[in-house]
Amino acid sequence: MKTAIIWFRQDLRLQDNPALQSALEHAEHIIPVFIDDTKSTSLSQPGSASNVWLHHSLHSLTKDLQNTLGASLIIRKGDPLNCLRTLLEETGAEQLYWNRCYDPASIARDTIIKQQLAQQASIKTFNASLLYEPWEILKADNTPYRVYTAYWNRMRRFGFNHPLSMSVLARQQQGPTPPSLCINDLSLLPSLNWADNMMQHWTVGEDEAHNKLTNFINTHLLHYKEHRNNPHLTGTSSLSPHLHFGEISPRQIVQAIIQYRDSHPRATEACEVFLKEIVWRDFAYYLLYHYPQTVDQPLDTRFENFPWLCDTEAHLEAWQKGLTGIPIVDAGMRQLWHTGWMHNRVRMIVASFLTKNLLIPWQEGEHWFRDTLVDADLASNVFGWQWAAGSGADAAPYFRIFNPVLQSRKFDSEGEYIRCWIPELANMNSKHIHHPEKAFNGYPAPVVDLKASRERALEAFSSIKNGSRH
Ligand SMILES: Cc1cc2nc3c(=O)[nH]c(=O)nc-3n(C[C@H](O)[C@H](O)[C@H](O)COP(=O)(O)OP(=O)(O)OC[C@H]3O[C@@H](n4cnc5c(N)ncnc54)[C@H](O)[C@@H]3O)c2cc1C
Repeated sequence: MKTAIIWFRQDLRLQDNPALQSALEHAEHIIPVFIDDTKSTSLSQPGSASNVWLHHSLHSLTKDLQNTLGASLIIRKGDPLNCLRTLLEETGAEQLYWNRCYDPASIARDTIIKQQLAQQASIKTFNASLLYEPWEILKADNTPYRVYTAYWNRMRRFGFNHPLSMSVLARQQQGPTPPSLCINDLSLLPSLNWADNMMQHWTVGEDEAHNKLTNFINTHLLHYKEHRNNPHLTGTSSLSPHLHFGEISPRQIVQAIIQYRDSHPRATEACEVFLKEIVWRDFAYYLLYHYPQTVDQPLDTRFENFPWLCDTEAHLEAWQKGLTGIPIVDAGMRQLWHTGWMHNRVRMIVASFLTKNLLIPWQEGEHWFRDTLVDADLASNVFGWQWAAGSGADAAPYFRIFNPVLQSRKFDSEGEYIRCWIPELANMNSKHIHHPEKAFNGYPAPVVDLKASRERALEAFSSIKNGSRH
């Protein structure tokens, strides 16, 4: 009997999962495994909110594997090379399948595993999480794109790939099951009840990802272009954590959007705007793959000399706690704390405020988001932070500094989002709620003057702007 190990990582689903599909096609007995290797490698440590999501997602995958394939998810902890080697020996499996990850540490780890286990097993790897592999889209001179529009145009010319057409067929497992830890042994849940409150906002797993997509398409997609920037509306899909953990694939999303567009001509423009967002995610992975140093170094090397401020603990803490005295910033930071998610427009505002008005290095914000977002994703997070700081891939020729008060008036004009997350300001009128200049009802005065801190940021930028990029 042929036995195959399928190593689940950021692909916690059954459908459109090429590694699983291939294992099922080539072996009679499959052994699905998840390895918690966070303590044993140099991989960037997942944050607290991600761990909570992972806990629930592993439960969901366990149930789906059991119900559909009669297979148990084997949980191991430690160095993946050792764990996989042991599993191959224990089970006599000759095949090992996984879907690729694209961050530098995972690539280095997987390369070693491939070399070390090549004698023991036939190893096959696949793309399950991107529309295109990062090496498939290059400029005519074979170098990577750095400007999104050019990248998008190129991908459009290629067309979108389809998800796997076959569904994973229900079948019952034959062979023996190797020993496994329990999901609880991974201690992914914190002792604080913060996580229980946060998870009241979410249902985790592959089924829910598809329900959410269907609901978004039927209810919100048509108005996506108009509503997506308004944080008080449910204008976006909130699919990001499901995408990060691979509970749904971007190919499945794109196919559903295109099917809807083809039968709803009125939605053509909205669909195009949404597809562009899905492609932004691919672009973030693309940049991280081609510029792996950007995990913690600026893409625009002039920023290596940027004069960030020192001794910023008090301001950083005020920002993290949602106590800066700038309501739209604080509403966003409190939404993040309570739900593990923040609206994209507000992410841009809070990131601009941290890096420009407070002159705190973007890496500090990236770390905080990594710890608190349920959708924390190395590629998208680093990409978003570098863009906000001005050191990333951005076609804009100037140093962009958002005015948080103008942003607030424009995108939350009646202050509904602010009132939702800052109860201290619940009774303030819509005219003043965007910028109460003094402390009010326990809510603090602004920690910086917006005009003066803007001037200071422009000065900081002028000190590096004539340097050379490489
Ligand atoms: C400073 C900063 C940090 C960010 N950190 C993350 C992160 O850690 N993880 C993450 O998934 N996204 C991150 N984003 C991107 C974006 O804010 C979220 O993807 C989006 O808010 C998720 O909500 P949604 O699923 O409702 O988005 P929708 O508007 O419904 O978009 C659909 C999907 O497109 C993708 N997408 C949309 N916008 C972007 C973008 N700007 N960059 C990359 N992908 C995008 C996401 O996968 C998203 O789920 C960050 C943005 C900024 C400015």
